[in-house]
Amino acid sequence: MTGRTALEIRLDSPTLIAAGPPSSNLVDTLTFIPGNTLRGVLAWRYIDEGGDASSPEFKRLFLGDKLSFGFAFKDGAQAIPLSARTCKYYGGFRADGGHGVMDLLASNGELRCEYEDTPCSKPLDYCNGFYDPMRFREVGVTRRLVTRTAISRARGSADHGRLYTQRVMEEGQRFVGRIYGDEDLVAKIRKLVGDGFEVRIGKGVSRGMGWARVSMAGEAAWAWPPAGAKERFEAFKEKFGRPVLAVTLLCDALFTDDYLRDRTSLTIKDLEPLGIKVSDWKEAPANVFAATRRVFGFDGEPIGLPRTPKTALAAGSVFLFEAEKGVDNPCIPDGDGVGFIGEGRLEGYGRAMLWHPFHVEAEREDVAEGLPGRDLDSILAERAGDLYALGFGPSRISSSQMAALAERIRRAKDLEEAEENICSFIDNQLGKLRKGAERTGKKGSWLLEGRRRRESLGDLFKDYVVKEKRYRRGLCAGGAEGLDLLRRFWRKFHNRYRIEASFKEPVPMDCCKEEE
Ligand SMILES: [Zn+2]
Repeated sequence: MTGRTALEIRLDSPTLIAAGPPSSNLVDTLTFIPGNTLRGVLAWRYIDEGGDASSPEFKRLFLGDKLSFGFAFKDGAQAIPLSARTCKYYGGFRADGGHGVMDLLASNGELRCEYEDTPCSKPLDYCNGFYDPMRFREVGVTRRLVTRTAISRARGSADHGRLYTQRVMEEGQRFVGRIYGDEDLVAKIRKLVGDGFEVRIGKGVSRGMGWARVSMAGEAAWAWPPAGAKERFEAFKEKFGRPVLAVTLLCDALFTDDYLRDRTSLTIKDLEPLGIKVSDWKEAPANVFAATRRVFGFDGEPIGLPRTPKTALAAGSVFLFEAEKGVDNPCIPDGDGVGFIGEGRLEGYGRAMLWHPFHVEAEREDVAEGLPGRDLDSILAERAGDLYALGFGPSRISSSQMAALAERIRRAKDLEEAEENICSFIDNQLGKLRKGAERTGKKGSWLLEGRRRRESLGDLFKDYVVKEKRYRRGLCAGGAEGLDLLRRFWRKFHNRYRIEASFKEPVPMDCCKEEE
């Protein structure tokens, strides 16, 4: 399997990909697009383009074992490994304004939140969902509830007593799925997709749900992982102080035993397809962070019945193996150490990675190398959005306070003066607010606490802009260029505030691109 290509699926209407048979009257959607759906979409396209479903080519493309159709995740994100933990009170990646994410694979014993020099020390909590492994930010799949009435087939009107609710993925989201296999077949898939096409996926297509557009994804889909398996193995060896083998599931995986029963634990033999030498490692894992998911499906025509549900190991599951005694330099595969294990590879099950970098470095500051090809304005807008999301807004800070701060940034002759102005203004306001709070017992304005950190909004603003200078991290060192960046950053920040003030509700980031 040498070829690969990546597709983008953009949802143009709300989409429901059922997670399982309906329980009572709620139907919930998955938050990713399974490989099987991607395969179905392409097979449909093949036939729609005049192809023959009984041809040998169709069989090789969609029914053989020469192509694997991977799961499509939002914006190409990954499941956060199940060994991840975050602060119970101010959770989330640092770039998202949380206290940061830690990984437990290399640690033993109870850990607590390590945020800041005076550690927060709150207990840790689970950290579920998806993240962007290049930028260390959470990737949320937005969903909403839709309530409908069933229609009586006999009367053609609402059926009495039959109200049901569906949870759907919202339109406008973009999913990236990867396809691996023989180069000639991958080339055929590329040709099939061409300039893109419309499809309908999931349930409720008769009600206008599930419209999507499929097109080729750019090369950016392959920018990760940045290092090969050998380098990552060395990083693990250094962190653990001994040779270890870690395998992390990038999507759900299916394993069966000799009697074809579902199996929820791995042995080292299962990892042989990834190119390791089985005799280098102990057979059973020494440490496991795993979860399971029930996988449902329906057989197509003419059977039309539910398949026996299977138990899959969930994406993000992690297994750690120790080296056999005396093995100091185990055999490490060439290449990126990513491949398929277990069963159901045709449908994308079992994509796994050896030595996932997350377990060595759960997150990193957003520095320049994380930002190739992105223009300055979009970086500044994103950072302004990060700071703003910590709890600023018209209901908390008055517009005259914002205007006063704006004036002090505008008036400054150089960066130093601007920073002094910010600090003296905020300190002055905080002083007055504290006195007021002592009298009345009520906190307001800059003294209010941020949403994900416990400092006051005033201190948060000072820390972000003056102390840590996060708005220009990786972009410039300071000086005149720094003052320019600070002003541009402030404009983005102030714009967000103004738009929210005029719309009376928070606005998505994309709306804040215009300049004054
Ligand atoms: Zn904390």
